Amino acid sequence: PDRLITAEAGADDRAIDRAIRPRKLADYVGQPAVREQMEIFIGAARGRKEALDHVLIFGPPGLGKTTLSHIIAHEMQVNLRQTSGPVLEKPGDLAALLTNLDPGDVLFVDEIHRLSPVVEEVLYPAMEDYQLDIMIGEGPAARSIKLDLPPFTLVGATTRAGLLTSPLRDRFGIVQRLEYYSAEDLTHIVQRSAGILGIEAEPDGAAEIARRARGTPRIANRLLRRVRDYAQVRGDGRISAEIADRALSMLKVDALGFDHMDRRLLSAVIEKFDGGPVGVESLAAAIGEERGTIEDVLEPFLIQQGFLMRTPRGRMATQSAYQHFGLSGIQTPLS
Ligand code: ADP
Repeated sequence: PDRLITAEAGADDRAIDRAIRPRKLADYVGQPAVREQMEIFIGAARGRKEALDHVLIFGPPGLGKTTLSHIIAHEMQVNLRQTSGPVLEKPGDLAALLTNLDPGDVLFVDEIHRLSPVVEEVLYPAMEDYQLDIMIGEGPAARSIKLDLPPFTLVGATTRAGLLTSPLRDRFGIVQRLEYYSAEDLTHIVQRSAGILGIEAEPDGAAEIARRARGTPRIANRLLRRVRDYAQVRGDGRISAEIADRALSMLKVDALGFDHMDRRLLSAVIEKFDGGPVGVESLAAAIGEERGTIEDVLEPFLIQQGFLMRTPRGRMATQSAYQHFGLSGIQTPLS
């Protein structure tokens, strides 16, 4: 990816994912509430020899939605079929997947908020009654066919639950929201990944990477790989706190994990819009980013950290934003 700290997966992430993605619930670090609930729901469904209820997982990119769906399939001892909202163009695309499932299988639909309405229609009876109800042919020859499907579990992932239609949301029996990870949990994740990849990381080194990974496991794992490179060339290969700090400073990831994109967004709010409130569309135009990138990737972490506020009239920079980014506001509120 062009941005080091983006939470979106790049090609290099996908290759490494296979090695470091946890496979069992016990290896899923953090998210204690999610873990405890899933342990009970999975245990109960297995005890009854039933398919697990449909699961909706939401949260910002890189927090472990795909990982959790793989874990669900693994713990249920069933197959996982994976697709995504935009890939399912026609009802037939979904029908082909559904009719190939074995009893109990997990169908993982990433970006489920991007399903087209006609495909979504097919999903309703499939989720509710394990029934496929689909039109084949066109014009006067068109007819509808109904098929029984095996019981299955739909696991849907989305970055924002608010984008789901309510009939779709209502059909999920289990809804899990993933939160940003604490620095402590991320330290654990960095150490676990370092162990798997054979990287020597001191506890303080792992903690320094964790602190600057914006609460996001995917970013923590990516920073670990870049810091490893630095440690290898500029040091003796070991990741100490000092090496991690030097590497991340060189990569322009600041002490709190912010980079030039965050700075650009906040300085636009402060300098072009007097600190806000500014609508997301105007902000997108001002910094040349897509609205979706701002809403999904950039602002959730800034909001969670208290640098940006979402108000009914738009986004506003907070006092912390002025301070941390060393930006002089036109009128600094409360100063
Ligand atoms: P999402 O689907 O939400 O974008 P992923 O499930 O692909 O995120 O997670 C990104 C990477 O972060 C995974 O490859 C995995 O190695 C790591 N990861 C995510 N969640 C956890 C977790 N709870 N414990 C350990 N590693 C995790």
